[in-house]
Amino acid sequence: MKDQLTVVIASSNPGKSAEIRDLLTDYPICIKKLSDFGPIPPVVEDGKTFDENAYKKASFVSRFDENAYKKASFVSRVLGLPALADDSGLVVEALDGAPGIYSARYAGDDASDIQRCTKLLAEMKGKTNRRAAFECVISIAVPTGAALTYEARCEGLLLETPAGENGFGYDPVFYYPPLKKTFAELTREQKSRISHRGKALGELKDEFDKVSIWIRQHMPRL
Ligand code: IMP
Repeated sequence: MKDQLTVVIASSNPGKSAEIRDLLTDYPICIKKLSDFGPIPPVVEDGKTFDENAYKKASFVSRFDENAYKKASFVSRVLGLPALADDSGLVVEALDGAPGIYSARYAGDDASDIQRCTKLLAEMKGKTNRRAAFECVISIAVPTGAALTYEARCEGLLLETPAGENGFGYDPVFYYPPLKKTFAELTREQKSRISHRGKALGELKDEFDKVSIWIRQHMPRL
């Protein structure tokens, strides 16, 4: 389509990218993924620079927005195109907000989703407060560094044993009481209707026309 906006999904997480792509299918934008452009340098996230005390508490939450902005603005600057990043994670009440922004690296850099869930369940052993929430921040950035941000949260409970095969990450241990199922027992469509990511992108979609105009106004003219 003539004059269609191109937006790059700034994520190398296939589960996340698939959900984002599905949620945006009906919108007049051309969605590209990072691998369409060949290798680009990795984005440096903040996690490792925090001191140990900060790591233990306050820093677990509320830095999703910083990471989302960093990812989106970095990719946008490198590629010269608008970029959309999602920074998200699981915040567990009984663990003072952990794994939070460390959700992806909770069991080490090269760990699998199963290893992350296993570590989480071990940390939760014997805890009666099973309340947890997924949080998501979506950032859309343009090469000048300007960005728009959307945030959402989805609350649930942690099971003691995983259930379900769908989704990714912590989905098999995250039980969503209104549907009486874990996220991994929902189809992608069912999950996206109620998930943190679905809700954050829903807000973006509610004002899609304004977002398109904003992107066009902020893109450098060739
Ligand atoms: P990052 O935002 O790429 O740093 O990683 C977020 C991590 O949080 C993922 O690797 C998952 O482990 C977890 N996560 C984020 N969103 C979801 C979700 O929708 N389901 C399950 N796990 C998630």
